[in-house]
Amino acid sequence: MEMGRIDLIEHHFRIPSPEHEIFFEPFQVNGIRVFIKRDDLIHPFVSGNKWRKMQRYIKDAFDSGCDTLVTYGGAFSNHLLATAAAGSIFGLKTKGIIKGLHADLNNPVLTLCRIFGMTCEITSSDEYNDLKRDNSRNAGASYMIPEGGYGHIGALGCEQLIEELQQSYDHLFCSVGTGTTLAGICNGLIKKGFSTEINGISALKGADSLMNEIQELTPQGTFNLHRNYHHGGYAKVSPELVKFIGEFTAETGVLLDPVYTGKMFYALSDLIASGYIPEGSRILCVHTGGLTGLMNERMLKKFSR
Ligand SMILES: *Cc1c(COP(=O)(O)O)cnc(C)c1O
Repeated sequence: MEMGRIDLIEHHFRIPSPEHEIFFEPFQVNGIRVFIKRDDLIHPFVSGNKWRKMQRYIKDAFDSGCDTLVTYGGAFSNHLLATAAAGSIFGLKTKGIIKGLHADLNNPVLTLCRIFGMTCEITSSDEYNDLKRDNSRNAGASYMIPEGGYGHIGALGCEQLIEELQQSYDHLFCSVGTGTTLAGICNGLIKKGFSTEINGISALKGADSLMNEIQELTPQGTFNLHRNYHHGGYAKVSPELVKFIGEFTAETGVLLDPVYTGKMFYALSDLIASGYIPEGSRILCVHTGGLTGLMNERMLKKFSR
């Protein structure tokens, strides 16, 4: 990154992110201790793993002489908002290609993207999928960040999370979308020589190619991919999940999002209750951020009962 830009990282991002123990009654069994890596506190809008994944792409954009970041996402994508906010910090223009039916599509996430200066281009699903296929090709001054930040460059940035750790853990839990964060964590742990058992909790239903896509980014990595905690599918919630998020947040002061981190902590709770986690384990949960997951009418209704 250009000189002078380094300071910007220090001024805008809370790195290393805090790491602390949490006390939630259902977790306090069998001598188990649960800690949390607060990547949600790194930045309000370049939240959590989005900054970890993005940092190397931004460096690469500068190194390639590009002045514009282009990326892809759904209308409520944390990744789009993270790109918009990060671009504004580093003086890069940003363009978002957004999947949507109507050109006048708007919501609180897109409004924030526009305030941070992103040009939002709404495209139909077909058009979106065509454009996305081109995303490895950098054109002129535009630097393409793949959808969801998926890729080796994204995973590399996530290794830093492991370098920051103040102690070692028996188990690590992380939410999974594309699996880029999980892959980076696996690679980071291998480099450190830690034998932590890694658990990824998929936020998606189905996604048969997910395992291969993650393994592509971490050929040596070994991890458990839990695929039965999606609560109906991506961005879907069940009444049990809504109840769990409320109880966890009220007791710990740590707000969870319903799309990713809520499902991860729910899974941990279930795996502790079922005896899957050995006695006396020390567990680290990565809070990957994502609190904009609550910022839509449908989700607000689920939580207002
Ligand atoms: C995007 C996101 C993820 C998924 O990260 P991947 O690296 O794509 O697996 C997890 N948690 C939160 C909060 C996110 O916003």
